[in-house]
Amino acid sequence: MTLAYVALGSNLGDPRQQVLDAMEALARLPDTRLLKRSHLYRTPPWGVLEQPPFINAAVQLDTTLSPHGLLDALIGIEQTAGRERTQRNGPRTLDLDLLYVDGVQLDDERLTLPHPRMTERAFVLLPLHDLAPSLQLPGRGSVAELLARLDLAGCERLP
Ligand code: ADP
Ligand code: MG
Repeated sequence: MTLAYVALGSNLGDPRQQVLDAMEALARLPDTRLLKRSHLYRTPPWGVLEQPPFINAAVQLDTTLSPHGLLDALIGIEQTAGRERTQRNGPRTLDLDLLYVDGVQLDDERLTLPHPRMTERAFVLLPLHDLAPSLQLPGRGSVAELLARLDLAGCERLP
């Protein structure tokens, strides 16, 4: 079994419910166990600023799926949630990103691991910090160190 971390985000429809539903869908994936769930966070939009705030979270999985098998599963869950790919960084019912798979570094046309943009994004590192503060991202430092450098303005942990 291999540890993997997935980021969840939503800002259309009922974002909180969609993130919770996606966690349940992740827990039901074949050959996979959901070990930990982060808190939910409300975070300001990023990139495209004229859109509703996001609800973000992360989960820790233990899986025997391959990284590409896991990516296919994430895309399937996004599609079930009604995800339409329109504008880059635009509003979405559900975004699932594969952040990190233990011991895996790869970069091909479908998948880059660790996720290349995760280290500059508070909406990714805040929930990941709930799960694995001392996780080392190769060549970049620990999640806690990287998070300490980011501006958390407007990010709020939900009760
Ligand atoms: P974004 O999450 O950057 O807003 P999308 O969710 O539309 O954009 O993803 C775009 C593409 O990124 C996906 O089709 C997928 O093949 C690719 N991708 C590359 N690396 C990863 C990764 N680590 N996790 C998720 N998607 C990835
Ligand atoms: Mg994505």
